[in-house]
Amino acid sequence: MPKMWIGGEWTGSASRRAFAVSNPATEAVLDEVPRADARDADRAVRAAAEAFKTWRTTPGLERANLMHQFATALRQKHHAIARQMTLEGGKPLIENIDEIEWCAGVFDYYGEIARDQAGKVLAPVFQHQINFVRKEPYGVVVCIVPWNYPLLLMSWKVAPALAAGNTIVLKPSEETPLSTLMLAEEFARFGPGVVNIVTGYGAEVGEPLVVHKDTALVAFTGSIATGKAIAGAAAPHLKKLNLELGGNDPFIVCDDVDIDVAAKGAAWAAFLNMGQVCTSGERFYVFDSVFERFVDRFAAIARGLRLGDPMGPDIDCGPLIRESHRVQIEKKIADAVAQGASVVCGGRRPPHMKKGFFFEPTVLVDVSHKMSLMRSETFGPIAPIMPVKGIEEAVRLADDSEYGLGANIYTNNLEYAMYAMENIHAGTFWINDPLTDNDAGPFGGMRMSGMGRELGIEGLDAFREPKHVHMDWKIEAKPYWYPYRWQDVPGAGHGGPGAGKSRRKGGRKR
Ligand code: NAD
Repeated sequence: MPKMWIGGEWTGSASRRAFAVSNPATEAVLDEVPRADARDADRAVRAAAEAFKTWRTTPGLERANLMHQFATALRQKHHAIARQMTLEGGKPLIENIDEIEWCAGVFDYYGEIARDQAGKVLAPVFQHQINFVRKEPYGVVVCIVPWNYPLLLMSWKVAPALAAGNTIVLKPSEETPLSTLMLAEEFARFGPGVVNIVTGYGAEVGEPLVVHKDTALVAFTGSIATGKAIAGAAAPHLKKLNLELGGNDPFIVCDDVDIDVAAKGAAWAAFLNMGQVCTSGERFYVFDSVFERFVDRFAAIARGLRLGDPMGPDIDCGPLIRESHRVQIEKKIADAVAQGASVVCGGRRPPHMKKGFFFEPTVLVDVSHKMSLMRSETFGPIAPIMPVKGIEEAVRLADDSEYGLGANIYTNNLEYAMYAMENIHAGTFWINDPLTDNDAGPFGGMRMSGMGRELGIEGLDAFREPKHVHMDWKIEAKPYWYPYRWQDVPGAGHGGPGAGKSRRKGGRKR
């Protein structure tokens, strides 16, 4: 049984309890990992607090070198780590290899940008003054990560937080701890306690980590429900929070595009990783003049996707993460059908696959904007498609949501694209190229989809707090106390020769 990684050592949980990790493609148990509780959380946060004393003063170049070494090690081990990710998470092997490359790139990127600038110099107000802003690490950062992109979403937190000089307690999802634990000995190069990994169930270990007196900041990616629970637990302690939460992204298809091309992009957005992507296309608004053609093409692609063993080379989709998730998705489809929706394809468990949490990519029409499929995140391979009269209706429906993570449009019409971009709340807006990211661009949610941003310089600043330093390099006696006379204050009612002079001009000598 693998152990947890605290203070640069492998360790079991204080309770000696463990929990099983299973393969969603076969339902077989893979291994057990320690089930941490508040005692383990305390040990991990204290180890990180101790390590902060040295890591915060480690020079930027040294940090960058270590981060590049870490990235290289990830690339060298990518096959073994990706295999583990596929076994426990069900994402196709090739996608996990790609995820590791992406994750390594994030470590390279933050190693470099963090050694570039750590603040700014302000224009002085008076002679002899130097004002500068220094961006300082917070201290211990707790990173809580979901299962769908376990290493990528780890890297969006751990890389900038480390590069900024913080130390880390990392809590992987209970579904995917094994691949994260494989990184422990690579994290060792940063020094004991700089990155610690605790494994456990949700609030049982998550809440003690959040509220610990030495936790300075919590960086979380996961569902809105858990985001609210973390915000509630953090509030009495006023812990700093970065929250990356769920989405229900709209996808608009206009009538001026090649429908084959748009349908391919839409199917990628809907079914990649079985729709278990926070920025999956979750609701489709298609101009009615091209609606039928689009639905035909889109459904043909959905029918052609090959479900199977995610380790295999000839598949497009693996299983859903767990049985309870599959049941929730089935219920959402049944509710929509009861309200008048029609299933064009999919909508069921593949009859020939008896093991594993597989589900057929599903296309639905005759949907209304009121259905829960359209209103809340499904996080599954379900694409409800609605006809719209034109761009105004498409944009109005797309923006009628409490979410604001991402949004997509396919069009060649610049006016449509800019109108949609301006009027839809979305942290990321994709035009003709869904689900593509750029490490240098900020990623995050508007409205209930989150607080703060990851990636880009914004994602580094999320882990640094500004300190304004004011210095006068010429020490001289100054009339700090009562430099003004009452009669110098405009409107003080004394009149006289000094009345109306500005406080600065008539006041302190600099
Ligand atoms: P989840 O919210 O159930 O769990 C996420 C993590 O939080 C896990 O590590 C879990 O153990 C931990 N956790 C659960 N309860 C906790 C508590 N009370 N205190 C502290 N930690 C707690 O989410 P999930 O099922 O793992 O992931 C799916 C969700 O994540 C979807 O809603 C998806 O949209 C969202 N997501 C968002 C982004 C983004 O960048 N915005 C990216 C990926 C996934």
